[in-house]
Amino acid sequence: MSDTIFSKIIRGEIPCHKVYEDKHVFAFLDIGPLSRGHTLVIPKEAAATLDQLSDESAAAIGRVLPRLSRAVLKATGATAFNILQNNGAAAHQAVFHVHFHIIPKFENGTGLGIRWESQKFDHGAGAALATEIAASV
Ligand code: 5GP
Repeated sequence: MSDTIFSKIIRGEIPCHKVYEDKHVFAFLDIGPLSRGHTLVIPKEAAATLDQLSDESAAAIGRVLPRLSRAVLKATGATAFNILQNNGAAAHQAVFHVHFHIIPKFENGTGLGIRWESQKFDHGAGAALATEIAASV
């Protein structure tokens, strides 16, 4: 279990602009927003990455994420948004405590910029890979 700046925020040792809290989940405004209303939703459980998170915390976040997204949209007037969840430094994770970004996307372009370079799909390799992943779930 890691003790990061987010654990300190949950404990109230570092201030934040809190928007939601329940038994398992905490949400607050991102200090370096990509757009107005950029919100972080985190489990109280101090798991570093999503693959290490308990089913209980994952379920608690899943339950509230749509409601928080609706609240962010209502408050900001945005009609589009991205959910971003980074795991590992190579995947742009800077704080090693699981967090989901709710990032409103506005008509003026502010919000998450995405580079999406899709690769050619190989059905033979894909079938083998799907079988391997399915066997580990
Ligand atoms: P990551 O790149 O790890 O997915 O995103 C970490 C996010 O945490 C960044 O968007 C950054 O602005 C935010 N952040 C880092 N430190 C603090 C802090 O002390 N307070 C708040 N509210 N956000 C933080």
